[in-house]
Amino acid sequence: MAALHEMTLTEAADRLARGEMSSRELTRACLDRIETVERSLGAFLSVDADGALAAADAADAARQKGEVAGRPLLGVPLALKDVLAERDRPLTCGSRILENFVSPYDATVVERLRRAGAVFLGRLNMDEFAMGSSTENSAFHPTRNPWDPDRIPGGSSGGCAAAVAAGECLASIGSDTGGSVRQPASFCGVVGLKPTYGRVSRYGLVAFASSLDQVGPVTRTVEDAAQLLEVIAGHDPRDSTSLPDPVSAYSRALTGEVRGLRIGLPREYQVSGLDPEVKVAVAQAVDVLAGLGAEVKEISLPHTEYAVAAYYIIAPAEASANLARFDGIRYGVRREGADPIALYRATRGAGFGLEVKRRVILGTYVLSSGYYDAYYLRAQKVRSLIRQDFLRAFEEVDVVATPTVPTTAFRLGEKSSDPLQMYLLDICTLSCNLAGICGISVPCGFSKDPRLPIGLQLLGRPLGEETLLRAAHAYQSATDWHRRRPPLESRGAG
Ligand code: GLN
Repeated sequence: MAALHEMTLTEAADRLARGEMSSRELTRACLDRIETVERSLGAFLSVDADGALAAADAADAARQKGEVAGRPLLGVPLALKDVLAERDRPLTCGSRILENFVSPYDATVVERLRRAGAVFLGRLNMDEFAMGSSTENSAFHPTRNPWDPDRIPGGSSGGCAAAVAAGECLASIGSDTGGSVRQPASFCGVVGLKPTYGRVSRYGLVAFASSLDQVGPVTRTVEDAAQLLEVIAGHDPRDSTSLPDPVSAYSRALTGEVRGLRIGLPREYQVSGLDPEVKVAVAQAVDVLAGLGAEVKEISLPHTEYAVAAYYIIAPAEASANLARFDGIRYGVRREGADPIALYRATRGAGFGLEVKRRVILGTYVLSSGYYDAYYLRAQKVRSLIRQDFLRAFEEVDVVATPTVPTTAFRLGEKSSDPLQMYLLDICTLSCNLAGICGISVPCGFSKDPRLPIGLQLLGRPLGEETLLRAAHAYQSATDWHRRRPPLESRGAG
């Protein structure tokens, strides 16, 4: 039997179903793995060993009684980014302002996973309120990249990607506002899917930028991502932006067939600063798809160069409004003051980290009268142009292929003093959120020295997840990058 950290979610679910192992054994194995590697990784903010084992026992008992219908994840241990509400568990968003806050309810996504039988191991580290690209903005501790502990795992869902890559859980659920699922997946050599805006309910996801936020899975294979999307997707009356369209059987769309599939290569994604090794790996990945019968052609997404500027106006604007609720009155940390204003100032001053404050200030500025038209409104117009670029491109092609990030994972501290350098690295992932389309990152190679994972990003039409997943799965079926595991063992992990 493959070691736990080599097993996919789909394999584990099959073995559980065949009675070849119990959920308790599998959950115990994850908890052991967490114990062994967590000290050098820091992927979790909290681990719920007792709760997970109790849920595993309940899953085993349900299976004994044959209560398995509609429960494809029965007994499968997962972990959640600390931004999704899980009843009676901490919900910190990586922020001091929510330190000690315990969620009174389940997010819709969590409810759906629970109904499908999933076991939750704990809460995963993240950049504070999902603002960042390295997980260094967590107020509690950084997370390290399992492939090289001196490097960042990406962000903001750095804990999600590191934990899956290191075998601490079989899969995880993160959130993606401008790349936060795909970018860390790319840096850690795993799969990250951002569904179409509205495909997955955001009820119980702590809001960062409401017009951009989507929940998405981080997994070892595309098959696992399809399986999880099938469980979490669908209309939710509690999220007015969730789409009413029926949910496809995504895992059945994985036929391996891409003959005649039209793949577009946007010339604007040959960005400056594109690492030559990333460029080569992505070109080779596209060649693999062409070898399987896909048609490849160059396309243009002319407004790409404005994506970073537009995103870093719109996202902070929405964040400044969303984060107004953290005022020390209703929940979280409170610092007393002589009057309400003094209380707000003291609470927010002490509770928020530097990057969050920067975004709130930027957002308040671009929304203030006199600047609203010049910045916010103009950014919204650029956003429409970016969406139109994609809709036009999708008349000619079925998916768009790009690097997920222009580089491999950087060193801890390397970019912390220069936020703009960090923002610019998001160039390949932001447009997908601005346009509301779907995207996935799959492992497509490694740099040589140091040996670090590289990700291929595929982008698809609004609600085009079936085609997107089919293309990504066909690529994985023809390659084995996703089967490589980081060399944690040599550092004493087992
Ligand atoms: N890196 C981007 C930011 O800092 C995206 C974050 C995200 O997707 N949550 O805003």
